[in-house]
Amino acid sequence: MSFFESPAFEGHEALHAFHDARSGLRCFIAIHSTARGPATGGARLWTYPGEQAAIDDALKLSRAMSYKNAVCDLELGGGKAVIMGRAGVAKSPALFEAFGAAVESLGGSYWGAEDVGVTPEDLAHAARRTRYMAGLTGTPAASGDPSPVTAEGVKRGIELTVQKTLNRSLSGVTVAIQGLGHVGARLADLLAGAGAKLIVTDLDEKTARAVAARTGGKAVPPHAIFDTDAEVFAPCALGGAISRETLPRIRARIIAGAANNQLADAETGRAIFDRGAVYAPDFVLNGGGIINIAAEIRALASGGAYDPDWVAMKLDRMTATLGEVLDRSIRERRPTDVIANEIARERIAAAR
Ligand code: NAD
Repeated sequence: MSFFESPAFEGHEALHAFHDARSGLRCFIAIHSTARGPATGGARLWTYPGEQAAIDDALKLSRAMSYKNAVCDLELGGGKAVIMGRAGVAKSPALFEAFGAAVESLGGSYWGAEDVGVTPEDLAHAARRTRYMAGLTGTPAASGDPSPVTAEGVKRGIELTVQKTLNRSLSGVTVAIQGLGHVGARLADLLAGAGAKLIVTDLDEKTARAVAARTGGKAVPPHAIFDTDAEVFAPCALGGAISRETLPRIRARIIAGAANNQLADAETGRAIFDRGAVYAPDFVLNGGGIINIAAEIRALASGGAYDPDWVAMKLDRMTATLGEVLDRSIRERRPTDVIANEIARERIAAAR
């Protein structure tokens, strides 16, 4: 099978490879779709076992960004950059300036932002060489740290799913949170503020104990979070938390959290549905971060300032889309992730 016909590339518009001998930059930028606007998605710096693994990751993540941006009703397409971390190649200003030059050469068809392994300082170096970088600080258009907006969107999504599934408010509902980083810790505060009872965990025990203490919750070791007695399980760590191995241990009626790619595979979405539980698809819940980035791109385009009201309006719409996904899942007796993917594909196709 040729590369262009492979399932990995299927539906993509482009895959760009960049090399800069001086800084050691090796990077791929995948553009899944520009139908709804410039392909937008974070830049990830990761040490991959080889070039194929980096390409596969870029293609998979750029498609996911297309779907997330469409479901969040943003005038953005989907793209992703992966910078290959390599022994002997230091993370340096020169590396990110070379990355900025690569992004600039695409003439605005791709906009970069922060992702795993890339900090706002790294982005500032890249931004010296390109206009197409968002998630910056220090200007009226800048959107800053996206995590609080992500956490707010996830909290609203959990609240709606609890209301539709259990016919309750968050008050007194027990939520188990896996991962207390930028988003998870903030989510814990928001949920506790709404009266939820928390069971929390993190690889860093001290963080787990601190979050439990300030939210009146209980901290458990990482392996024990799957076996807790909670109504909601909120994955807020890495992807793949819900798998054939972990699902049988999760007693929660609702799975809803911030992590990207929570389901290990498509069969897991079906298995959640078959056992009568409800999965709030990750990208209809955790889009607050990209909504925040979109606000910056929008402000830069108009020469205006970051507009928190526009962000709040988009968060409302994302939550309304989640409501539509949950209602259709009951009506059509189909898993929520299948319906959410379908809505995204329809919106992208309509724009084409
Ligand atoms: P982060 O790196 O700040 O936090 C992740 C936390 O999870 C860390 O504290 C880590 O110790 C913990 N962790 C990792 N593996 C664990 C395990 N097995 N058990 C318990 N804890 C574990 O990341 P973040 O920015 O908070 O993002 C969390 C998730 O949400 C990621 O999947 C990310 O891709 C996704 N997400 C984040 C944003 C955002 O705005 N930051 C937006 C969309 C999606």
